[in-house]
Amino acid sequence: MFDNLSTRLGKVFDRLKGKGVLSEGDVGDAMREIRVAMLEADVALPVVKDFIASVREKAVGQEVLRSITPGQMVVKIVNDHLRELLGGATSELKLASPPAVILMVGLQGSGKTTSSAKLAVRLRKDRKKVLLASLDVQRPAAQKQLEVLAQQAQVDSLPIVNGQQPLDITRRALESARREGFDVLILDTAGRLHIDESLMVELLQVRDLAKPHETLLVADALTGQDAVNVASHFHERIAVTGIVLTRLDGDARGGAALSMRQVTGRPIKFVGMGEKLDALEVFHPDRMAGRILGMGDVVSLVEKAAEIVDKDEAERLADKLQRGSFSLEDFKSQLLQVKKMGGMGGIMGKLPGIAKLKAQMGEAKIDEKIIGRQIAIIDSMTKIERRNPKIIDGSRRRRIAKGSGTDVADVNRLLKQHRQMQDMMKQMKKAGGLGNLKNLLS
Ligand code: GDP
Repeated sequence: MFDNLSTRLGKVFDRLKGKGVLSEGDVGDAMREIRVAMLEADVALPVVKDFIASVREKAVGQEVLRSITPGQMVVKIVNDHLRELLGGATSELKLASPPAVILMVGLQGSGKTTSSAKLAVRLRKDRKKVLLASLDVQRPAAQKQLEVLAQQAQVDSLPIVNGQQPLDITRRALESARREGFDVLILDTAGRLHIDESLMVELLQVRDLAKPHETLLVADALTGQDAVNVASHFHERIAVTGIVLTRLDGDARGGAALSMRQVTGRPIKFVGMGEKLDALEVFHPDRMAGRILGMGDVVSLVEKAAEIVDKDEAERLADKLQRGSFSLEDFKSQLLQVKKMGGMGGIMGKLPGIAKLKAQMGEAKIDEKIIGRQIAIIDSMTKIERRNPKIIDGSRRRRIAKGSGTDVADVNRLLKQHRQMQDMMKQMKKAGGLGNLKNLLS
C-alpha cells in the first residue's frame, strides 16, 4: 500500500531528534522519500525533479521550530511549495459581458459533456441564463445526450438540426444566445479517442468564430500521464484558459493536476467529483496538495503548534509520565495544553501517527467543554488529593462534584481516565514507545 509522505518522513527524521538545524544529508534523505511519494501520486518525473530542487534549496539550513520535529518542518516546506505550484489561490471563471462563451474541449470520454452540464448547473445557481449547445456531429447520439442533460440541469439547449456542421451550429448558437438574452453559452465540442489533426482544425475554426472567453480543457485524472500529454497538445494548438479535471472521486492521486498545471501554466478551475450534475467543485490547491502528499491536515497543525504549544512544559510532562509520577496536577497541565490546541478533536487525526493513540484511548471522547469541566474537577480537589488520588473516597467525590458543579459520575470518569492514562503509559514504556509519545506532545 501507498505509504503517505508523513509516515515516510517520520521514519527518516526519527533519527534526527533533537537537531536544531537541518543539514544537507538530512534533507537529502527526506528528498528521496518525497520523490517516491510524488511519483506514486502520478506526478511527471521532470516536474518531480524541478520540485525537489526548489524544496531542497528552501529546506537546507532551515531553523527547525522548537515545537515541531524536523520531519514536519519539511512536510510544511513541501506543502507550501506544492500549493504555490498548483496555483496558490482558487481560480474562478472569467466571464465578460453577455453572452459569454465557454468552449469545452478534450478527448472523447474525458467527461466533457457531463462537465458542460455540471457547469451549466453551477452558473444557473448563480442566476445566470445558460444555453448549452453540442457541436459533436461525430457521435450520433452526442447532441441528444446534451439535450437530455440540459433538461436535468434545468437550462436551455440549442434545438437540434440534423445534418448541420459544427461551424453552422456555432453560428446558430451565437445568434440564439444574443437574440434571446443568454448570459452564458457553453459549447460542447466533439472529442476523439486520440488527438488528430482534423479535430484540431475543427476546434480552431470554432474558436475563431466563437471567440470564447474561456476555453476549458476537460481531462480525466485517472489517465494520469496521458492526461498530461493531452493537455500539452491541446494547449499548444488552441491555448486553453483553464482545466477541468474529472473523476477525482475515484482513486486518482491527483499528481496529474500538478503536472498539467506545470506543463500548460494554466490553472485548474474545477474538479469533477462524481457522475451527478452537482458533482463539480471549484479547485482548491490546498486540498490537492494534501491529496498528493497524503498528509491530512498536518500543515495547519504544524502552524498551530508553532504558535501555541509550550515545548518545555510538554517535555516535562512526558518525563513525568515516563517516571510514572503523573499526578492529577500534571493531568490538568496537560488538559490545558490540549485545550489551547483546540481540543483533542482538533489534534487527533491531524498528527501523523496519532491514530494509534486515539485507538488506545477508545471511547474517551474529549471535547473542549468536557476539558473545561475536567479542569474544574481537578481544581476542586485539595493538593493532597491531586498528588495521591487513591485517597479520594465516596464522600470526597461528593464534595469535589459539588465544588465543581458536576456529578459524582463525572468525578469518577475523570479519575478512571487518569488511571487509564497511567496504565497506558506503563504499557507504552514497556513497548519502548515513549519516544513516540514525546513527539506527539512536542
Ligand atoms: P465526453 O465524451 O467527454 O463528453 O464524456 P461524458 O461527459 O459523456 O462522460 C463519460 C462518462 O464519464 C460518463 O459516464 C460520465 O457520467 C462519467 N463522468 C464524467 N465526469 C465524471 C466525474 O467527475 N466522476 C465520475 N465518477 N464519472 C464522471
